[in-house]
Amino acid sequence: MPRYAYANGRYVPHALARVQIEDRGYQFADGVYEVILIHDGRLIDGEPHFDRLGYSLNALRIPWPLARPALRLVLRELIARNGVAHGIVYLQVTRGVAARDHKFPADATPSLVATTKRQRPPAATLTAGAAVITLPDIRWRRCDIKSVALLPNILGKQAAAEAGAFEAWLVDDDGCITEGTSTNAWIVTRAGRLVTRNLSAAILAGITRLSLLRLAQSQGIAFEERRFSVAEAKEAAEAFLTSTTSLVLPVTRIDGEAIGDGKPGLLTMMLRDNYLRYLAESPS
Ligand code: PMP
Repeated sequence: MPRYAYANGRYVPHALARVQIEDRGYQFADGVYEVILIHDGRLIDGEPHFDRLGYSLNALRIPWPLARPALRLVLRELIARNGVAHGIVYLQVTRGVAARDHKFPADATPSLVATTKRQRPPAATLTAGAAVITLPDIRWRRCDIKSVALLPNILGKQAAAEAGAFEAWLVDDDGCITEGTSTNAWIVTRAGRLVTRNLSAAILAGITRLSLLRLAQSQGIAFEERRFSVAEAKEAAEAFLTSTTSLVLPVTRIDGEAIGDGKPGLLTMMLRDNYLRYLAESPS
């Protein structure tokens, strides 16, 4: 089956899809993106992802490239054409093509591209749990915008890989963990409290984070949205991370130090099971 990409109004064979060299996404990282999970051919949490896309576009004053219902149709069509049962759809909107000048162009049309990828969550990391390292958070002060400008995230993920870890948790100037390079960070305290950082411009409002908090709430599991330090994380009973691609993934080592008994935590695995059930039951 040929793999298609969607690029500015057309479904084209993936390998032939092109963007122009003066696209501001290419020249300035002047654009935003979303990654949405496909489970059993269904888009998971499509509406919150579209809400977040709208938030990012609005923050950068980039118009919607298509009306929201049309965008939804494009993604569904792409998933169907590519026959993806499990994977992700990636969509990117940039301010468009214009002669290079930092100021907003007067009349650019936003560019929209979308691609799909088949993938399953990492099973091996699941049984042992993932290792994370900590690094200074050197990103800008608007991490709530899902911008395609990802250099600090790339450097962090590369440093993690070179250290044999799955992810880098980023640490602010107060010694508190903001989030991972592409994931949100969570701990379970020794008193059994579920904790993740409160929303602010310091982190991305993860959609998996949102859904997991809603699930926890509906099941009467208490949680706190607040900052937590590296020291508190290392002393926690459990730790885990969330994202569209990693789902709910136990973290068993931080900077080489074992968390709890060094095995995936009980509450973590319960939350993961709940989340998997949520995926299985989600409408398209
Ligand atoms: N934080 C950052 C910096 C991310 O890039 C991501 C992945 N989009 C997340 C958190 C997790 O967000 P989500 O659950 O929406 O994938």
